[in-house]
Amino acid sequence: MLVKTKALVLRGMPLGDQDRLLTMLSADLGVITVSARGIARSGGRLAAAAQPFMYGEYVLFQGTSRYSLNEGEVIASFFDLRAVRLTSMSADAGMVPEAAREVLELTLHALHRLMPNGKNPMNPELTEAIFLLKMLQISGLTPHLTGCTVCGSTAIDRIRFSFRHGGFLCETCESTDSSSIPVSTGVAKAMLYTLCAPMTSLFRFDLSAVQVGGFLNLVDRYASERWENRLHHKDSIYGGK
Ligand SMILES: [Zn+2]
Repeated sequence: MLVKTKALVLRGMPLGDQDRLLTMLSADLGVITVSARGIARSGGRLAAAAQPFMYGEYVLFQGTSRYSLNEGEVIASFFDLRAVRLTSMSADAGMVPEAAREVLELTLHALHRLMPNGKNPMNPELTEAIFLLKMLQISGLTPHLTGCTVCGSTAIDRIRFSFRHGGFLCETCESTDSSSIPVSTGVAKAMLYTLCAPMTSLFRFDLSAVQVGGFLNLVDRYASERWENRLHHKDSIYGGK
């Protein structure tokens, strides 16, 4: 059976001299493995469309255990080292079928902002920070940011972030985690905006360089800690709350 789908090529692994095994993220089909036979010698459009970081329209033959690539047409191409990291997280999160569409949308928005030729380029560190936090949210790993994660207070003058408790801390509860770090108001607002904004306006704000650094450090560390852990708590990965 032939299926037509729009997808992003996340990875391409060589299989012998001529073939390649692609990992693709499609809104309809989720994360799929697609064999691309004879791709190395085919040249032209199909070979271009089978490169990692290509987003295109593909015609796939659905076999019993795997898809194979029949036709492909590039819609947009992305390449950036930062994209490598982003897409590896997308491959992981897109494994949850219900999340595939949202993961793909988020990944495409982020990749568009990372491209220097894009219409609206964004600070790549800010792009990465927003992507990481949104991906945590899609995966059910949202940190608690709507008040103090210990006492619930929403009137916080000096906000801190606790990696141990997984959210903001108020002045009173600061002592419950000596390893918590201060969060500037700008970063706190950026984090809340990221959680609440619709996908289309997610990557549409700016921060000072210092705040971008603080934002990325915080979510990068939080994502590294929680992303690995979640593999041990598979039931709570998606829709747990
Ligand atoms: Zn508190």
